[in-house]
Amino acid sequence: MTSRLDERLATVLGTRTAASLGKLGLETVGDLLRHYPRRYGEPGQLTRLGDLAIGEHVTVMAQVRSATVRQMCSRGGAMLEAIVTDGHDSLQLTFFAKRAGVLRMHEDKLRAGRQGLFTGTVGDYRGRRQLTHPDYLIVGVDSATEDDALAEASRPIPLYPAVASMPTWRIGKAVRGVLDPLTEADVPDPLPASLRESRGLPTLLEALRLVHVPETVDDARRGRERLRFEEALVLQTALARRRADHAALAAVPRPAAAGGLVDALDARLPFALTAGQRSVGETLAGDLARDTPMLRLLQGDVGSGKTVVALRAMLQVVDAGGQAALLAPTEVLAAQHARSLRHLLGPLADAGMLTAAEAATRVTLLTGSQGSKERRLALAEAASGAAGIVVGTHALLSETVQFADLGLVVVDEQHRFGVEQRDALRARGERVPHTLVMTATPIPRTVAMTVFGDLETSVLGERPAGRQETVTHLVPAGNAAWIDRIWARVREEVAAGGRAYVVCPRIDGDTEEEAEETPVDADGGAGASGGGTLDLDAAAAGATDTAGGPPRPPLAAVAEVAEQLRARPELAGIEVEAMHGRLTADRKDAAMARFASGAAPVLVSTTVIEVGVDVPEATVMVVLDAQHFGISQLHQLRGRVGRGDKPSLCLLVSLAEEGTTAHERLSALAATTDGFVLAEKDLELRREGDVLGAAQSGGRNSLRLLRAVRDAALIDEARREATALVDTDPALDSHPELAAAIASMLDPEREDFLSRS
Ligand code: ADP
Ligand code: MG
Repeated sequence: MTSRLDERLATVLGTRTAASLGKLGLETVGDLLRHYPRRYGEPGQLTRLGDLAIGEHVTVMAQVRSATVRQMCSRGGAMLEAIVTDGHDSLQLTFFAKRAGVLRMHEDKLRAGRQGLFTGTVGDYRGRRQLTHPDYLIVGVDSATEDDALAEASRPIPLYPAVASMPTWRIGKAVRGVLDPLTEADVPDPLPASLRESRGLPTLLEALRLVHVPETVDDARRGRERLRFEEALVLQTALARRRADHAALAAVPRPAAAGGLVDALDARLPFALTAGQRSVGETLAGDLARDTPMLRLLQGDVGSGKTVVALRAMLQVVDAGGQAALLAPTEVLAAQHARSLRHLLGPLADAGMLTAAEAATRVTLLTGSQGSKERRLALAEAASGAAGIVVGTHALLSETVQFADLGLVVVDEQHRFGVEQRDALRARGERVPHTLVMTATPIPRTVAMTVFGDLETSVLGERPAGRQETVTHLVPAGNAAWIDRIWARVREEVAAGGRAYVVCPRIDGDTEEEAEETPVDADGGAGASGGGTLDLDAAAAGATDTAGGPPRPPLAAVAEVAEQLRARPELAGIEVEAMHGRLTADRKDAAMARFASGAAPVLVSTTVIEVGVDVPEATVMVVLDAQHFGISQLHQLRGRVGRGDKPSLCLLVSLAEEGTTAHERLSALAATTDGFVLAEKDLELRREGDVLGAAQSGGRNSLRLLRAVRDAALIDEARREATALVDTDPALDSHPELAAAIASMLDPEREDFLSRS
């Protein structure tokens, strides 16, 4: 189905305009129409100019008070000085030119009494706020007739995410250029007509007109509502189809059996399972007994004891004659998992050895950095079935690793285990293994529904009894006395048998650890301005706190910090170990082992220790340049302490100043250890698109308006409608437009394909 929406902008608008729009990633008519205004300017409601901050990029609605062209004696040339006002404060607009004549055009437009939108970066000239060479739009001036001018003067003005070469009004003009000639037949609507009618929603074309050319603010809102619902429905229908596809697959049932390894493990565990561990265990046992593959997400905050839950599920599969694979995000974690599984299993993992218990199995570690001999052995154990449990990274899913009978795949600590990886599993054979995805990053329900909408979800609520709370403090990096106190405190903890992690954002002077997430995201668009512009979507106007201020010292680096700590009098006689992602697996292992044993009770590291590392003696977590990390990352890091029976301490050292988002993030961490509260806070503080965007199955930008937390109810409804649609028409035969929208959302190559053709 080709439609006018697929036409290239170059064909419709000419190559120059198309090139500028290309900078915004807009290639087709459809792309441009889906480039929605971020907010609207309302004529008559002027922006409060007194609130503008120097250095801010703003778009303001104001009234012209005066405009004068002057010759400049000193520098030669001419300047135009205009004053605009909100009725109280004023702002100066300044234009320079070689000759005065050039400035007459501006002078003619900027007549006293007229209103307009002005865009630029706020500068300071002799104590006066000013915009130099601002881009501007005078309301009503370009209209063909007086009626038009009047209409325009009362209409909300769409403000688009823009770039310097393509200011918002030129985008608006381009949008009108492609939108005006379109008819209903040109714009296929993904929303089924029945749904549209029952919910009283406009067609797609109507909605686009409401959003791009609203008569009133309420129009714009109505249009957005409908587009938002469409996004939710397309996504949820895609997910409903995946669920239906999945339910049609076949798996080998692995029912629980009494008297096997599961019972033997339960009998030797040094602790009683929590009620949560038991009930999730029962759910998993039931899932594994079915002949359709389990696809379940287990959420449990750090330290909630997910490993033993996974181990019991894996043993059930081994008891039933199959094998299980445990995938960790890093080799460090894989090695640690293998160690702790062997430790929990004791003689139950000694198959083939004299010490083996009856019915024992083997835990085999398989990683890319193993020596070739070791690796061959591990591959052979996986292929022969001698290994009941194979532990590794995602490389385990590669074709070269053969299993005798893979029954269960457990994916640990991977909230970004996306659709592609799940598909790779399915592609492995006719019988699809059961899959359990575990994450310690709590995901608010609606995000889970959006990102992991094709998974069933279980939550491990309570933490094992006897755990001590971890107290968190913010330490200002500039205060030398406080910094001294940190290391004195570390010494005390070590003397009492504890261990301390010291986390740095970088490895050495110029290498950054491969960061998984960037906490501060640049918004790239025009800064929000209060008053006269109306923000329908406050959540989308991401805050940045990177601009301005004096240059900062470089971020703390592992190599340097380890050196400094070794020289600190407080730590005299205490071994300091260093670890980061660039070390070989062996050296990482050795460093971890020295830390765990207490030989080196202080470990300076990058975030390679972020997830899963389990050293119960660790009681202090010091994070240097903590402002560099995101909330969930810091929560994970903090989860490395407080795992034993002693109270623990987390110190977030940072230069972040009060009032910045970074400071707010750190304060949130100091205020609570509840991962779910923090996850909500995280969503609030960063642009949610990034949370969804990175993890979400569809290519970029398929969710423009939908916000998982705010739109929870809408997503719920869309999910219900989607499930009903797919139940009655799994192939969506009677809804080709919806099917096409899903296909284009799920096709990450689309953009590439279009720009090549
Ligand atoms: P996470 O959910 O973060 O992966 P782990 O599975 O690593 O947590 O468990 C954290 C620690 O708690 C481990 O040392 C584990 O042995 C211990 N643990 C697990 N379950 C219990 C329990 N029911 N009672 C006491 N300790 C437990
Ligand atoms: Mg874990």
